Amino acid sequence: MALDLARAGRQVRLLDPAPRFVPAAYIGSRSKAVLRWAEEARLVTESGVELVEIGQDAILVRHADGRSERIACKVLAIAPGRVAHDPLSQALLGSGIQVQVVGDARKPRSYGNAIHEAAYLARRI
Ligand SMILES: Cc1cc2nc3c(=O)[nH]c(=O)nc-3n(C[C@H](O)[C@H](O)[C@H](O)COP(=O)(O)OP(=O)(O)OC[C@H]3O[C@@H](n4cnc5c(N)ncnc54)[C@H](O)[C@@H]3O)c2cc1C
Repeated sequence: MALDLARAGRQVRLLDPAPRFVPAAYIGSRSKAVLRWAEEARLVTESGVELVEIGQDAILVRHADGRSERIACKVLAIAPGRVAHDPLSQALLGSGIQVQVVGDARKPRSYGNAIHEAAYLARRI
C-alpha cells in the first residue's frame, strides 16, 4: 500500500518499530522487485521508529536513539502484524471433540504451510 501511494505521488513515510525490515516470508523472490520499486519511488523503511501517540492531524513517534518526533499527517495506516485469530478451538477445549488447528489459525505463515498441514492431517484421519 505504501508503495502504491508513493508511486501515485503521495508523500509517504513507512515506519517500522523493528530494528531491521524483514519482508514477509511468502513474498519470497518477489521481494527483490518490490524493494527495487520502493527505491525508485524513494520509499525508505524507517526502522526502529515506534508510534507513541496519535493526535489531531499529527502523530508522535520515538526513534531508536530516544529522540521524539512529531509528524504531521492526514492519514495513518496501521499494520499491526500477523497474529493467529483462533477463538473457535479455545471454545471447543474440554468439549470431548478432538480439535486440530492448521494454517494461519495456528500461526500465520504461507499457503504452502496451510496446505501441507491440512493434507498431512487429512491422511491421519
Ligand atoms: C495480503 C496477503 C498476501 C499473501 N500472499 C501470499 C503469497 O503470495 N503466498 C503465500 O504462500 N501466502 C500468502 N499469504 C498468506 C496466505 O494467504 C495464508 O497463509 C493462507 O491463506 C492460510 O490459509 P488458511 O486456510 O490457514 O486460512 P485462510 O485462507 O484465511 O482460510 C480461512 C477460511 O476460514 C473462513 N472462516 C473464518 N472464520 C469462520 C467461521 N467462524 N466459520 C466459517 N468459516 C470461517 C474464512 O472466511 C476463510 O475463508 C498472504 C496473506 C495476505 C494477508
